[in-house]
Amino acid sequence: MTTKDIEKPIPSNHEVESVGVKIEGAKDQVIRERKLSMMSRPNEIKAMIPNFDLSDDELIVLGLEKEDDGWHVPNRQYFPNPISKDSVLINYGRKEDGTIDLGFCSQDEFAKIYAHTDQYKQGKITYINPVEIKKGEIIDATKCATGEFTLMPEGTQIKTNEGDVTVRPGQILIINENKNSVFASDISEMLKRYVADPMNPASKKAFELLRSFEEQKKTAKPEELAELFNKLVSEYNGIERKSKVYKSYFAETDIETLRDDFKHAAEVVKELDREISTRINSMDFGSRVEEARVVLREIIADTKNTPEQENIKISYVLARLLPKTNNHQHLKGSVPMETLLERARIHKFSEEQIAAIKNAYTNGEDGFENLDAFNKAYETIGSAIRTPEDYQAAVKGVIEEATRAGQLTTEIRCSVIGQRDDSGNTLDPHVATENILEAMEKSRADIGEEAPKVGFTFLGYRGRDWKPEEVIEHAKLAVEFAQKYPDKKFSFDIAGPEDTGYNPAHFKEGFDLIKEYNNKIKSGEIKGELIGVTIHAGETPTYNEGKRGNESIEEALEMGANRIGHGVQAVSNLETLDHLKKSGATVEICGVCNISSIPLNTRGMAIHPVQEFINQEIPITICTDNDAICGTNITKEYAQFLLTGHSELMNWNNVKEAAKNGIKSSFISDRDKEQALKVFNERIRIIERLVTEERDNVEIEKIREALKNMKEAA
Ligand SMILES: [Zn+2]
Repeated sequence: MTTKDIEKPIPSNHEVESVGVKIEGAKDQVIRERKLSMMSRPNEIKAMIPNFDLSDDELIVLGLEKEDDGWHVPNRQYFPNPISKDSVLINYGRKEDGTIDLGFCSQDEFAKIYAHTDQYKQGKITYINPVEIKKGEIIDATKCATGEFTLMPEGTQIKTNEGDVTVRPGQILIINENKNSVFASDISEMLKRYVADPMNPASKKAFELLRSFEEQKKTAKPEELAELFNKLVSEYNGIERKSKVYKSYFAETDIETLRDDFKHAAEVVKELDREISTRINSMDFGSRVEEARVVLREIIADTKNTPEQENIKISYVLARLLPKTNNHQHLKGSVPMETLLERARIHKFSEEQIAAIKNAYTNGEDGFENLDAFNKAYETIGSAIRTPEDYQAAVKGVIEEATRAGQLTTEIRCSVIGQRDDSGNTLDPHVATENILEAMEKSRADIGEEAPKVGFTFLGYRGRDWKPEEVIEHAKLAVEFAQKYPDKKFSFDIAGPEDTGYNPAHFKEGFDLIKEYNNKIKSGEIKGELIGVTIHAGETPTYNEGKRGNESIEEALEMGANRIGHGVQAVSNLETLDHLKKSGATVEICGVCNISSIPLNTRGMAIHPVQEFINQEIPITICTDNDAICGTNITKEYAQFLLTGHSELMNWNNVKEAAKNGIKSSFISDRDKEQALKVFNERIRIIERLVTEERDNVEIEKIREALKNMKEAA
């Protein structure tokens, strides 16, 4: 959205710094020195090249208004000039007051920013060439672009694409150096359409300043605005711009390259996992710390490492040691390969079937083409988990793996309806549940005090080939078991493809049962643990047969979700982000699954919106979804974000915060939670001491430096 200086400058009593020179365009030295990168939010619009041969009445129907100087869009504040013959008319959707939000831009500008929506949804960005648009034809386009911006002091004269502008308080310049174009926009408008460049800490810092300016502006008196703006400009100019992190990822480049970068990062993570995780793999924390110490010294002594490689490896060690949780992990999709192969052999699988299982594990690491391929792998891997013994072995495998990964809590989640016994008879779901609970207890007892705290989640599946009433049945079971075992924590989840017509509200009956039970606990009528509610929502761009994915999150919140599974579509809508924040719900982030395994889930953005959640201060918890099928594990999840330039996440304080949020939001009993948090704090102190207690060792200084860099990365 562009804006022009049509209002009189706001009167100010303060002296204003002025650059004194007139800025002629985007290539001006002062702009080059001050600009920063950013990314646009994907924004669906409808576009048209208006046919001015039409009658006045027909043009009025399009929403245009006739003036002496030509045809205008009603939004005169941002589009003061008449629309020209080579402009593209843009329908941004409806405004809050219900009227249509119309704007326009030049064909050149359009070609640079807008891509075909249908292809965008398939994960491909093809920019639209306006020459190919027929006059009067309405087309769907999605705004997706990188951009640059800068702030200039009030009063600066600038030649923009819309004519000469005198910068007034609250205005920001949007730059395209290649085209030597400059647009002036209001900061509030710009924040609606752009996010910080996740690769660029300076950009993130600038966005923080802009948001804080907007916040302060709300309560400022008109006469204070200029001073506030001057302060913003001077703080903006003071931002350290040189510290770009992890060079190659998420530079301004096309989606294919981003995807390649992500794949490359995944390869590096795979290698680190083999190199490091396998060596820090003891069941007890004390031994893992000593193992880590050895690995750290080797990394530092290795002169072949570049400083960047060294930094990444040290961060990986810290991520491995970090006390973690895994609040979104499907049992069947997360069975360790050895456990699964053992079950397959017990079931006398053919060599071919065993090869297919091994294949599925490898394919998982490489990612899936689409949701069907993912489901097929799920079937293959799940095929060896059928009998009660299989489920027990699966639970044992997952809990042991969690212990080695340093998890303080874990949640076992699966469907308990439709399980079968050895002879193939359907198991009563109560029996199936008891079987799993028993395995959870036994595995923990075998491991001893290092074992993570556990909770159980009843998972209802809403796929087309499943019965929706079974989802409600799972909610009922959650209530029954919560009543039966008041000292244990149970929870309820809905998973499966979202675009089936079974939206969260479709299962309101189940959520109501849980709400009713929880109200009795809250009022003290009965004693026990509250039943946790999480819902897979906003995982895919659409749900409920074509509705926008973010609305599914809204529905899930209405149904009383304490946590949202995936939730990536929340970032497509500011209101949803706002509701999410106000609800206090935690988002279960499954990065590898969202981007690498099923890239369509994030619209092939190749950039996980985790950064946006952190920026918005929405609590997140890092999870794996399906370790086996997605070829991931909880340490890899942290590392993948680190390597793909999500530096804010891997800023040590934020890492700790995400891990701690994981415990706070995990569905384990209150008593378990309290104990887990205590252990968390103790272990963090030990990990941080691992770094500082080696103070005399000069080499170890580098670790402290790395830790410091992580802290300051944002
Ligand atoms: Zn899931």
